[in-house]
Amino acid sequence: MASVSITNVRKDYGQLEVLHGVDIDIRDGEFVILVGPSGCGKSTLLRMIAGLEDISSGSISIGGRVVNDIAPKDRDIAMVFQSYALYPHMTVEANMGFSLKLAKAPQEEIRRRVSEAAQILGLEKLLDRHPRHLSGGQRQRVAMGRAIVRQPQVFLFDEPLSNLDAKLRVQMRSEIKQLHQRLKTTTIYVTHDQIEAMTMADRIVVMHDGVVEQIGSPLELYDRPANLFVASFIGSPG
Ligand code: ADP
Ligand code: MG
Repeated sequence: MASVSITNVRKDYGQLEVLHGVDIDIRDGEFVILVGPSGCGKSTLLRMIAGLEDISSGSISIGGRVVNDIAPKDRDIAMVFQSYALYPHMTVEANMGFSLKLAKAPQEEIRRRVSEAAQILGLEKLLDRHPRHLSGGQRQRVAMGRAIVRQPQVFLFDEPLSNLDAKLRVQMRSEIKQLHQRLKTTTIYVTHDQIEAMTMADRIVVMHDGVVEQIGSPLELYDRPANLFVASFIGSPG
């Protein structure tokens, strides 16, 4: 676990500035959801935390350590995307252990960590299968398994459920919450779905056009929206 501090972060792509000075302080073990309309800069911010995108100005620190110039592989984070490409030719077990293998972890430790993660995610009986023989929900669990085995300080999720059907989405929301209650890993979770945000978050960060409009608990946002944008965004049906 680690705190994450985002301080006056700006991002431009050439002439286009897409983040205009973002400040967010995330506590150790907190589950924070970034929410806002498509194009407001959520993924860009997450990719900057992951080190997949340069920071134009400002700073990001993880566990008190500024990571602006630290390569993605040396940041203690794991990211789960919306299009979680599993390796088709590898079993579930190999998919989950692959990053540890790349990091040259001992075989025995890889097996132990994969088996622990499989147990948490209910994948014990599927370890020998290939992705094509899994359901959408099972594949999503394997994608989460790949993140869990790394035991990172921070989980980053970018709309992990948006490719799933409505029923599975509801089920996975509660599984992800249970996972967080169990592991207590600091989590930053992006969605454009306000229902997901209201039901899952410790605190919600509402973004709009590259700025943070409000940060607060679901109840605070519901009771005391800072402005009309927050009120209409939180109040509109998902
Ligand atoms: P969100 O995830 O909230 O939908 P993004 O972070 O993907 O938003 O995008 C924010 C803005 O930055 C959008 O206007 C998008 O078109 C622009 N953008 C994202 N990536 C790039 C890029 N590589 N080059 C230029 N513009 C980009
Ligand atoms: Mg996005």
